[in-house]
Amino acid sequence: MIGVGKRLIADETVKRTACDRCDTEESLTVKVYSKFFMLKILPFALNREIYVDCSSCKRVESNIAVFPRRTQDRIEAITDDAKHPWYLYLGYVIITGALLIGIIAKQ
Ligand SMILES: [Zn+2]
Repeated sequence: MIGVGKRLIADETVKRTACDRCDTEESLTVKVYSKFFMLKILPFALNREIYVDCSSCKRVESNIAVFPRRTQDRIEAITDDAKHPWYLYLGYVIITGALLIGIIAKQ
């Protein structure tokens, strides 16, 4: 199995913030997805995808630069806490380990 997958790692409402388009309080939700590449059973963490949607006007933004500075700061506070799950790094760890064993075995 080779392919790219993603899983939801954060799903939070932006507190004390109104949507700048429809002016509704606390209607913005931040979703962060961890994207990873899968090589057989080995996962390799790639990047994160961020979406902000508004439950009131139904906008969905993937570029947080469209929000006012104050809103961006609150969105970043949420996205900064959303890390790739540790096991998505296993691919890197195992490949590095295999290479090191290969180098040592040659000597
Ligand atoms: Zn809105």
